[in-house]
Amino acid sequence: GQFPEFVVESERATYSAKAVIVATGFYDQPNLLHVPGEDLPKVKHYYDEPHPYVFQHVAVIGGGNSAVDVALETFRRGAASVTMIVREPALKSTIKYWVRPDIENRIKEGSIKAYFNSEVVEIRPKEIDVRTPKGMLTLRNDFVLAMTGYHPNYDLLEAFRITFTNDAARRPIYNPDTMESEQPGVFLAGVVCGGMETNKWTIENARDHAPKIMDALAQKL
Ligand SMILES: Cc1cc2nc3c(=O)[nH]c(=O)nc-3n(C[C@H](O)[C@H](O)[C@H](O)COP(=O)(O)OP(=O)(O)OC[C@H]3O[C@@H](n4cnc5c(N)ncnc54)[C@H](O)[C@@H]3O)c2cc1C
Repeated sequence: GQFPEFVVESERATYSAKAVIVATGFYDQPNLLHVPGEDLPKVKHYYDEPHPYVFQHVAVIGGGNSAVDVALETFRRGAASVTMIVREPALKSTIKYWVRPDIENRIKEGSIKAYFNSEVVEIRPKEIDVRTPKGMLTLRNDFVLAMTGYHPNYDLLEAFRITFTNDAARRPIYNPDTMESEQPGVFLAGVVCGGMETNKWTIENARDHAPKIMDALAQKL
């Protein structure tokens, strides 16, 4: 074939392959807050269910869909208090349109507290410090749910000799017709293709990555 031979080593076995498809997504690498106390067990970068937070004082970091969903759900399932801490001046424009009125009304009525243009600067076992436009605040806190997004594993992609655009998006470079990267025989599929633009690809619009790769492989192998 026209591709080099690859040797893929995993924890389980070593494989030889004529082509490699990288579809590693980005959910294994959360965007960290980089503040003191982030390593406390009460700080979560993944959310699965609301019940651990019943009767607890919860801070939700971020202003995107995950943060909004988590704030609404922990509030409805009985958190003692829910406070959103949002770095930007407003919630993201990408908030699902059917969810937006719910969160905006909860914030307006004060049942969910929201600080915009604000950042958590330190996390301690029972408190957090928040920098707001009106000054520093110390809030009672039992859990920090950091819904701050994720990013691809660039070390891994670089190890595969995948190349990237030179802008903030750092998108992997690939041929959009075949999904082949600049490293011959290494293909990209799924949300990893968006680089730091983690909302660019969804299940729906990434569906054709697989048939494109299959066509390219069928022609070359
Ligand atoms: C709460 C939530 C709701 C969502 N709702 C929607 C929705 O309604 N519609 C929609 O389109 N999208 C939705 N998404 C996004 C959707 O999950 C992603 O678009 C989709 O899963 C991306 O698929 P993927 O195959 O590119 O990556 P992933 O599904 O993230 O798969 C990557 C896989 O690679 C594995 N992996 C990573 N690194 C390595 C490695 N080094 N070695 C071996 N394996 C590795 C991972 O373990 C994982 O199994 C949602 C996401 C979340 C978190």
